Amino acid sequence: MKAADSVKLVDYHCHLDLYPDYEKRFADCGSANVELLAVTTTPKAWPRNKELCARFPHIRVALGLHPQLVGERPNELRIFENYLAETHFVGEVGLDASPRYYASFAEQKRIFQHILRMCAEAGDKILSIHSARSAREVLNCIELSLAGSRSRPVLHWFTGSNADAKRAVELGCYFSVNEQMFASPTIHRMLEVIPPNRLLTETDGPFLQIQNRPAQPGEVGGVVGMLAQALKRSTMQVEELLLNNLVVLERRSE
Ligand code: MN
Repeated sequence: MKAADSVKLVDYHCHLDLYPDYEKRFADCGSANVELLAVTTTPKAWPRNKELCARFPHIRVALGLHPQLVGERPNELRIFENYLAETHFVGEVGLDASPRYYASFAEQKRIFQHILRMCAEAGDKILSIHSARSAREVLNCIELSLAGSRSRPVLHWFTGSNADAKRAVELGCYFSVNEQMFASPTIHRMLEVIPPNRLLTETDGPFLQIQNRPAQPGEVGGVVGMLAQALKRSTMQVEELLLNNLVVLERRSE
């Protein structure tokens, strides 16, 4: 049996570098009981993030170009390309068709497809993917440009239909789910089509709110409890499931 202190949680989408005291956050998470994927929103943040996580084996840093920033920063794709070989982890990338970002949607698609093709070619990437109001389009892009490669997509805060979720499963996607998703019935119907071995947890901190304050890095106890209830398993079983999913995901992409 596992010793209690060896139990680890999984936070597979957290913006560590967006907390005001981010240096301390890296150090805190590095010594905490959590496996964490620190996503970034611009490739300009890559060198500093990489430096900050170097001492902490349980923090992975992902190279990102957020779809909400693509409209203002399309030229950062060049910077992204330069750093891609330095990492197995990519994110936050994806599409956002919300009204505020819709003007850049064509540009977002061009850049996302380009990133997917580079990741497919490299074959060793894990991608944390944003799909706000664009589930179907994101899946089209994955099918066209990533599926069939050894790189793996993780859909972050996915809120598509059940048909979309089924298709995502067939395309090899994992799903990182958070506490706020359980405020809507969507997640409950999606859990009917997503196999438990494709699930991960995330905070999306500091954007996600828990009890009217920003989620803390690694604060996934709530969502683990909600998953346990939905899957009719114990909290410990869900913790083990999530850790195992993480190991399998990362092994496949090495
Ligand atoms: Mn995010």
